[in-house]
Amino acid sequence: MVARGFRLTAVVVLVASVAVVGLAEPASAKAPPVDQKIATAQKAANAAAAKLNQAIDESNKAKADVARFRAQSTANRKKLDELQTNLRDYAIREYQSGGGATYALVDDPARLARTHYLARTVALGSVDKLDAYRILLQDESVTQRALEARMRDREAAVSRQRAQRAAVMAQLISLGKAMKAQKSGLRVLATGAWVCPVQGARAFTNDWGQPRSGGRRHKGTDMLSPSGTPIVASVAGTVVQHDRGLGGKGYFLHGVDGNTYYGAHLSRFGAAGRVAQGQVVGYVGTSGNARGGPAHLHFEIHPGNGAAVNPYGTLRTYC
Ligand SMILES: [Zn+2]
Repeated sequence: MVARGFRLTAVVVLVASVAVVGLAEPASAKAPPVDQKIATAQKAANAAAAKLNQAIDESNKAKADVARFRAQSTANRKKLDELQTNLRDYAIREYQSGGGATYALVDDPARLARTHYLARTVALGSVDKLDAYRILLQDESVTQRALEARMRDREAAVSRQRAQRAAVMAQLISLGKAMKAQKSGLRVLATGAWVCPVQGARAFTNDWGQPRSGGRRHKGTDMLSPSGTPIVASVAGTVVQHDRGLGGKGYFLHGVDGNTYYGAHLSRFGAAGRVAQGQVVGYVGTSGNARGGPAHLHFEIHPGNGAAVNPYGTLRTYC
């Protein structure tokens, strides 16, 4: 059984790699036209979600670049200021003492030594030190140019992100229309012992582990969906609502299957306490740190109430 399973896996992997090189995904020949429409709209929505994810990643990287060049520029300016102050102090003392600087007036011995050294090298016309000063000035102007370029990159990345967000929402709207065109309106998408938590148009990619602010890593899947789309219990269990922090309005579903499910950024809550499978526990929104971004359900799976695992495989199967 195990060996056969492996062989089957190998075949699946082969088929998958063939699909990647450009062949059309195998579609059910008997699928009615409405289902085909939904499948096409879903594919487009997922592709748009993937592009949005990439744009978010790029804009985070550009943000980090800007911070790095800003820090470098601050350090450069500090060094330049020090050199300038030392040179100016020396010039003033030279003027006041009518020639030889009165170094005894300087309190800090380290500064005295530095001032003395700089003053002497300048007085002696040391080309090396003046060169160092000029090189630092040039370095600062290079840093400034790089900073400006990165800031432009960042702005471009942010506007790409904005455009992608609009594209995803447009795709989700046409997906929602295709779903409504079905007789039942919104179909129940899972036939097994698990129900897709977002019951409406949605798109998602495998964004597990993506870097987030404050050095965090993404511990779930962001399911993009129009605000107000119902969120249901994937399995029967007990819902505990949670309303604070980065997740905003969220819920813990302690499932009868032994897993804990966490959903965040709800616009409002649904049922709490004992819930049946498929019962509405809330609605998609942008609460918590999703404010200002695209509406989505941040979804986590904690097997046996332990650490979160990547929920993408499960969602890909049931949603
Ligand atoms: Zn998330």
